[in-house]
Amino acid sequence: MKFGGTSVGSAERIEGVARLVRERLPRRPIVVVSAFARVTDTLIQAARLAEARDGGHARLTAELRERHESVVRALVQEPQARQRLLDYVSALTNELATLCTAVQQLGELTPRSLDAVSALGERLSFQIVAQALAERGVPADAVDAREILVTDEGFGRATPDFDATGTRARERLLPLVEKGCVPLLPGFVGATPAGVTTTLGRGGSDWSASILGSVLAVEEIQIWTDVDGMMTVDPRLVASARVIPEVSFAEAAELAYFGAKVLHPATIRPAVERGIPVVVLNTLNPGAPGTRITETAAAREGEPRAIATKKGITVVMISQPRMLFAYGFLARVFEVFNRHKTPVDLIATSEVSVSLTIDNAERLEAIRRDLAELGEVQALERMAIVSVVGRGFTKRSGLAGRLFGALAEVNIVMISFGASDVNVSFVVAEQDADVAVRALHRSFFE
Ligand code: ADP
Ligand code: ASP
Ligand code: MG
Repeated sequence: MKFGGTSVGSAERIEGVARLVRERLPRRPIVVVSAFARVTDTLIQAARLAEARDGGHARLTAELRERHESVVRALVQEPQARQRLLDYVSALTNELATLCTAVQQLGELTPRSLDAVSALGERLSFQIVAQALAERGVPADAVDAREILVTDEGFGRATPDFDATGTRARERLLPLVEKGCVPLLPGFVGATPAGVTTTLGRGGSDWSASILGSVLAVEEIQIWTDVDGMMTVDPRLVASARVIPEVSFAEAAELAYFGAKVLHPATIRPAVERGIPVVVLNTLNPGAPGTRITETAAAREGEPRAIATKKGITVVMISQPRMLFAYGFLARVFEVFNRHKTPVDLIATSEVSVSLTIDNAERLEAIRRDLAELGEVQALERMAIVSVVGRGFTKRSGLAGRLFGALAEVNIVMISFGASDVNVSFVVAEQDADVAVRALHRSFFE
């Protein structure tokens, strides 16, 4: 059972979590929690202020301390436990202050330091939630994920070592479960074999849950969040969004990858490999059936299932008239992106040019410089990918007509259709994305 930020956003919400876990004790749950709502954002903001030599991080640190202390006071009555947790909050917020001071003095924020800072949110929340649950009839046992989840040194977006993690998870967690305890771990964080703190990237608590669930071969991975499941579109964007009761692994993976924030894109893979169903459920409406993500989800071929959107995309175009009939050109183009460790999402080619999209434009200048040796380069920033996800798209006629019809009012920069049977993606300017999403939703779902 993984509970996201809003599910542990306040003392009241944490009481709700305690009820949900208590009701499911016979199924022998393992719990993963995120940082309290918005805490990770605040931590990152504090680190960035320190890097910019802006003393404002001290105020943010004080606010974080205050907020966690007040949750402890509201939820933990047992005097010794309360004092232990208040001391813990004090120690971790002092750690934050020390890190920020160091960053401010250096004027430099390395990915490793940023991970040390952003991991503090989950490190704070899991101990508090564990004690709150313990006082509410859940035999919770806090286990620091950094002792279980082994990762490489890819700070900010670390990759888990499944074998090492599996060994540790079985050794540490299964005996607790056998004893009738509920292991409760922080999501998002891990550590290198040398014990240095890492994180799995924003939204990574979902992934933590699925990594642990898959190495322990659990019955089910439950992602508890603040909406009724995976929906036909982000409900914050379109009020008439509908819950999708059942979706296949492939569709869910595409939706997550192309921007449906409800699930971290890497969550599905470990579950697929083990055939473990993932269920998305609503903490605020626990009776709702949610969305079941399974291997075999029934689907109508050629019917769109949902729409996702991802902003902050850059389109890179390389033109080379001499590419005509040449081979090896695409290989050289991709070599450049490879060298700069920048993944490419969509690609379209013509006889004389290649367009592709990247999500991470950190190395854009260097990439442009290297690509300039291959042809004329142009970059379009502030673009968005709008993706329609479903199944059997290439087996059904008339779909393209409906898609283009819906988007008649929008300027389309690039299209990717048929690369997979489950996704059609359009690139539009960022300011046109919401209009495009609403138009597509109206056409297919309303
Ligand atoms: P948590 O803190 O529980 O991990 P997130 O904020 O990461 O929650 O994800 C839940 C949010 O994802 C929802 O509140 C919703 O606005 C957003 N979202 C985006 N696309 C979708 C979608 N297709 N279905 C459901 N929610 C979506
Ligand atoms: N707290 C982390 C974040 O906000 C991880 C998560 O919530 O999944 O990105
Ligand atoms: Mg999330």
